[in-house]
Amino acid sequence: MRKPLISGNWKMNHNHFEAIQTVQKLAYLVGKDELEAADVSIHPPFTDIRSVQTVIDSDKLGYALGAQHCHYEEKGAFTGEVSPVFLQKLGVQYVICGHSERREIFGETDEIVNKKVAAIQAHGMTPIFCCGETLEEREAGDTETKVLGQIRAGLEGRTPEQVAALVIAYEPIWAIGTGRTATSDDAQQVCAAVRACVAEGWGNDAAQAVRIQYGGSVKGSNIAELIAMPDIDGALVGGASLDADEFARICKLGV
Ligand code: PEP
Repeated sequence: MRKPLISGNWKMNHNHFEAIQTVQKLAYLVGKDELEAADVSIHPPFTDIRSVQTVIDSDKLGYALGAQHCHYEEKGAFTGEVSPVFLQKLGVQYVICGHSERREIFGETDEIVNKKVAAIQAHGMTPIFCCGETLEEREAGDTETKVLGQIRAGLEGRTPEQVAALVIAYEPIWAIGTGRTATSDDAQQVCAAVRACVAEGWGNDAAQAVRIQYGGSVKGSNIAELIAMPDIDGALVGGASLDADEFARICKLGV
């Protein structure tokens, strides 16, 4: 049985004071007992991670600490980058990689994403591997070609056990931050194709174990419908994770 994973990607929002307030409010709204239904990870900007870690640890909250990205090298002359070693030291458990904003704005290629997945796992953390199509690709009928191509390239060289342990986030780019959500049937169809692709490349056990999130304008009002789909095991949430009330509703799976 795959336990859902709800991940809040704050992107470049919330300074460390706002981060502390948001996590404290979230903890008040969703206590440890209410985290039975889903695992929850919070992905603040790098400058907030230590503050959020302190709140999670000192108040023994049930949230997992996440990061939004990292470099694939451990150290060196990479001005502005952050090492996976540093994240692991801070207790980070989940690291987003291959987000469409990193791919489109910062030029991350499948090859770079592949190295990041390897580096994140080599340091004992779980990658949240993002894939998704543009509106043009969807309208041209190329959704699966694009998404499955990203998966094959990004996960090439991983063992079945390594693929089983990661999280794949299917995020149609046209649904990110736009208020447009894929219908639950459309999202399910692509997530089922993702699982079939994992089965073909890494075997059935890996396909049954890997968690597949949907991402793209997820809200408290649509999470229940999405999570009811057989191949959707959680959500990667951007905008709605910034507001503790809204994110609390998502963490409770819309109940
Ligand atoms: C995201 O940042 O990955 C995302 C899905 O954003 P939003 O929920 O705002 O669409």
